[in-house]
Amino acid sequence: MIRAGLAPALFFAGNLKNVVLQYLPTGGFMTTIRYCFISFFLCISLIGCTPGEEPGEAPVAADDGRIDLIIKGDHIVSMDATGAIIEDGAIAVDEGVILAIGKAADIEAEYSAINTLNGDNRVVMPGLVNAHTHAAMTLLRGVADDLALMEWLQNYIFPAEVEFVDAEFVRIGTELACWEMIRGGTTTFVDMYYYPDTIAEVIDSCGLRALISSTVIDQRSPDAEGADDSITKGIGFIERWQGRNSRITPIFGPHANYTLDADQLQATRAAAQKYGAPISIHVSESQFEVQNSQNLYGMTSIEMLESIDFFDGPTIAAHVIWPTEQEIPILAERKVGVVHNPTSNMKLASGIAPIAEMLDAGVRVGLGTDGAASNNDLDMWEEMRLAAFLQKIGLMNPEALPATAVLRMATSGGAEAIGLGDEIGSLEVGKRADVIQVAFDDVHHIPTFDLVSHLVYVSDEQDVASVVVDGKVLMQDGDVLTIDTARVRSEATELASRIQAALAARNQE
Ligand SMILES: [Zn+2]
Repeated sequence: MIRAGLAPALFFAGNLKNVVLQYLPTGGFMTTIRYCFISFFLCISLIGCTPGEEPGEAPVAADDGRIDLIIKGDHIVSMDATGAIIEDGAIAVDEGVILAIGKAADIEAEYSAINTLNGDNRVVMPGLVNAHTHAAMTLLRGVADDLALMEWLQNYIFPAEVEFVDAEFVRIGTELACWEMIRGGTTTFVDMYYYPDTIAEVIDSCGLRALISSTVIDQRSPDAEGADDSITKGIGFIERWQGRNSRITPIFGPHANYTLDADQLQATRAAAQKYGAPISIHVSESQFEVQNSQNLYGMTSIEMLESIDFFDGPTIAAHVIWPTEQEIPILAERKVGVVHNPTSNMKLASGIAPIAEMLDAGVRVGLGTDGAASNNDLDMWEEMRLAAFLQKIGLMNPEALPATAVLRMATSGGAEAIGLGDEIGSLEVGKRADVIQVAFDDVHHIPTFDLVSHLVYVSDEQDVASVVVDGKVLMQDGDVLTIDTARVRSEATELASRIQAALAARNQE
């Protein structure tokens, strides 16, 4: 993995190399010399700037001088701080890292690649960051709809989970979710569910990037007997997976401040601090939660969490629909990553999160689908569109949350909110190569006056053509390459029919 410290080194090496290459002729023998220069500067960057880095982790070119991948596009929407869009562009990728980004003609003159993704009618952009989901809940899609959060959770979801969820359920459900997310251009997600080792194994093999929460909850759950047991099991999970795969970040997932008491929340934070692990938690999702917190602690949810120093460490807070005016500055100051889940919030009628207000206050805000049982899919394009529309209608202001702000939430803003802003979220030299190509072939893209407007208000998951994570192609021209589609489809269908039969039998009792 490329450590944060390597990024500037690569950037420096890339710039220096470009300066040198300007003065070198091209072709034949000189091409070989050019590659020597590339390798030389990359080596310098490693030796000089990252002591202790494993040599095997360095982004060096293949033996024959070819790099791994060139990704081309009619337009490259970088989502960098300047909002740069490159026409007729290309990205050079090797060892999972973006080596260079620029005009396709320049990139192809400079690099030769083992694999090239062609860019005709393709818009290249960073992969989408689904910052809050419960992936395996794809298998509970449609099991209970049209209910309010607390009734839905306590009378349907929690009992169904205790009855049906085991490691096999999680494996199949997570694979199904990963297939759907790859298909839709999601390259990173933050998961919170049970049997995290199984989730990690699925991520390891399918090639996505994920922060995987070991769920902590003070009730009998599918994989633990209560809060203490789930914290102990979470520690085991962190110890097994920390540093094992650079695409997988094991974290703690305390469910919420109405399913854990103050001591249990503090104990979870203490364990997270010990291992330097982030935390993902539901915060201020419903008026019930806020009122419950008020009744129990005399404080609203965020005030309560702040009062027990819960934000002393990286925190990803899902929903945050009902923050008070006093609480929003706490989120900004404590660098809490807020995750907006517009579809779930609308479906459960939980409320409209004050996203525009939080962004204005400097809060880091990303976007997520929530689980497929409250959405009912994992389509980030739909989340983008609904995020914009929900703010506009909520504030009765069409200027609220424009397309550019939403696209940021789904890419660079989301990456920042989950603590990966230095590694992913934008297409820049030195960052990990998490890249998607969106096809602009469909008639619904004609005409194209404004690319960003189309990406947010027109494009959907069916338009995603290719998906690259960490430099590896997971989907090419619509074909998911890292998951056996037929197997997952049949396993999920078979398991779902068993759940359906058990539910039908129970309803007849
Ligand atoms: Zn959730």
